[in-house]
Amino acid sequence: MQYEGVLSKMETEFAAQIQYYLTFENSFLNVNQALDKNIEISFLGYQCLNCSKKKKIFRQGFCYDCFYSSPAVGDWIMRPELSTAHLGIADRDLDYETRVQLQPHVVYLALSSEIKVGVTRKTQIPTRWIDQGACEAVSIVEVPNRYLAGITEVALKNHFVDKTNWRKMLQNEVLTLDLIAEKTNIFDKLPEEVKPYFNPDLDEHFVLKYPVLRYPKKVTGLNLDKTPNFTGRLIGIKGQYLIFEDGTVFNVRSFEGYVIGMNIL
Ligand SMILES: [Zn+2]
Repeated sequence: MQYEGVLSKMETEFAAQIQYYLTFENSFLNVNQALDKNIEISFLGYQCLNCSKKKKIFRQGFCYDCFYSSPAVGDWIMRPELSTAHLGIADRDLDYETRVQLQPHVVYLALSSEIKVGVTRKTQIPTRWIDQGACEAVSIVEVPNRYLAGITEVALKNHFVDKTNWRKMLQNEVLTLDLIAEKTNIFDKLPEEVKPYFNPDLDEHFVLKYPVLRYPKKVTGLNLDKTPNFTGRLIGIKGQYLIFEDGTVFNVRSFEGYVIGMNIL
């Protein structure tokens, strides 16, 4: 089976075992069905996810010009505490920012190797956790805008990491830690203005199971710029990564906007 098109992050479906889909213009692939098969990936070119021009991808699937002009990649995306739409102040496009920032956001704890704190729009649950390869997650607060979520995350960064250790996540080196116990101790660490939004529900505890046949002992990232042709046997999918038998891992998210050919052998 042969697929070709612009790469964008895998769509996911929360199920007993998480389902992954790669969607191309005229076709899609349920990646789970490619497990234990050889996959060939070839780099064919670039196509910016924003302007569709065949320009080199700079970051997050966007060309340089789009990355520095589109409201979809403002600094407040990666640093929610910089959000200003709740004050009526624009970063790049107030209409866009109002739509995205002034909606319910959740601050959560997730376990992918150790306990991490993070922020997501409520509509992105559990997608966000799947994308990070978390095996468990609990929500801490649900707030009405992105700014309040951001300042909560900043306060909790004193107690938890805020980045996923992708190597440990892919090697399944996960510490045995109790997310619910952490949540019961967290209230005093919240900013005062966020305390009224604490979610006391301890039963809301997500457990996520990934389609992985076996975990690699050592992992090396595939870089399509340096290795434009790669063939390997797929042994797992976790987070936004394809995991191959030889320890090569392909972060689909890092290559959004790349035009690729994919051949399931
Ligand atoms: Zn562009």
